[in-house]
Amino acid sequence: AQHFLARAKQHKHLGAFVAIHEDTTLAQARAADALIAQGKGGRLAGVPIAHKDIFVTKDFPTTAASKMLKGYQSPFDATVVTKLTASGAVTLGKLNCDEFAMGGANENSAIAPVGFDAAQPVRNPWNIERVPGGSSGGSAAAVAARLAPAVTGTDTGGSIRQPASFCGITGIKPTYGRASRYGMIAFASSLDQAGPMGRSAEDCALLLSEMCGPDLDRDSTSLDVPAEDFTAQLNDSIEGLRIGVPAEFFGDGLSADVRAAVDASLKEYEKLGAKLVPITLPRTELSVPVYYILAPAEASSNLSRFDGVKFGHRAQKYADLNDMYKKTRAEGFGDEVKRRIMIGAYVLSEGYYDAYYLQAQRIRRMIADDFQTAFKDCDVIAGPAAPTTAWAIGGKSDPVSNYLADIFTLPASLAGLPGLSLPAGFGDAGMPVGLQLIGNYFSEGKLLNAAHRFQ
Ligand code: GLN
Repeated sequence: AQHFLARAKQHKHLGAFVAIHEDTTLAQARAADALIAQGKGGRLAGVPIAHKDIFVTKDFPTTAASKMLKGYQSPFDATVVTKLTASGAVTLGKLNCDEFAMGGANENSAIAPVGFDAAQPVRNPWNIERVPGGSSGGSAAAVAARLAPAVTGTDTGGSIRQPASFCGITGIKPTYGRASRYGMIAFASSLDQAGPMGRSAEDCALLLSEMCGPDLDRDSTSLDVPAEDFTAQLNDSIEGLRIGVPAEFFGDGLSADVRAAVDASLKEYEKLGAKLVPITLPRTELSVPVYYILAPAEASSNLSRFDGVKFGHRAQKYADLNDMYKKTRAEGFGDEVKRRIMIGAYVLSEGYYDAYYLQAQRIRRMIADDFQTAFKDCDVIAGPAAPTTAWAIGGKSDPVSNYLADIFTLPASLAGLPGLSLPAGFGDAGMPVGLQLIGNYFSEGKLLNAAHRFQ
């Protein structure tokens, strides 16, 4: 823990951490040492990890990278945090992210990282002029720069897989419902999932095994499926594994350098005994408009709780109750969050609900069905995690181009399928490329095994 805290200090220019409490961490580490000495430590005994600032924590403040929650202190831990702590993990601190997890570059944080007076974009350790991806950008940067051996992230539309890809690490989003959402600040509840990010599939398997499991009393979408030991399958052979390669993931939008790295890793898989099978996911392109209707719709509803009464920020001066709501929300939310609340309120409004929201729900179902058709011919699906490598900070300022960059992670999110990104070489300017593996429901073990065999 001391080693990683020192590294976090040395690399504070990355902006990865938004909260560090050295005393708290070291007290946890000493308690872990005492348990280990008695032979009682859990599987993660003494392993220092850090949490995306979307998980509420009782020993550290929680902001969701929003001014709305600046100074907020949760009285309880998120279930994922409770489970990892129970397994012996020591918390190094809280990690920067996009405000309420909305974004794909970690340029939307409204909270000053440790060592800064004002909010900053998180920097990619491979090239500090580039973004680390997002929304779990602080998480990915921390692992890539070795400020933590492993961390938690959340993935609504790609926020674990895309930053893992941009920072050259491994990250997995499990099947929707595997990990409890209790204490995970809600963005789009039908999509939000927690998952680990680490240096290897092996580390992710260990963390994921400790994170998952039913939490039926606290999260109604939690699945009644027992926690699994995902490390048990890591050494299975992948001889004969059928890897589906979707044509739609290799179209015009894919940059040549990413394509070359992904093609080369698929060839590696063939050498390892896997069989490549051409497949089609015909509604891939529709996943962008569908997601950017459904996620804002759910966000507009979830974020209504931030009204200046129950949580966090409240405007200082106001005329009456309505004025208090308006000023509080105008001051507390950043531009991207406001944009999504407006889009969400619009697509849910009378007269537009059928045309947008319901239509998007129907196509979401078809996207999920397309995957089931594809899984008749293959065991896992492989393709790029993102169309390009990490772009320059400030280089993609219009929202639509940001949204379009999510095209390869959104389909699995909409279908609720598990997805993983593993390092697959480098693209232009030496920036990392991620290979995405998507599996059928509850196939996390298979995905982690396939990634581990490659690593
Ligand atoms: N980039 C996507 C968005 O902005 C995904 C974010 C996420 O998965 N939290 O919504």
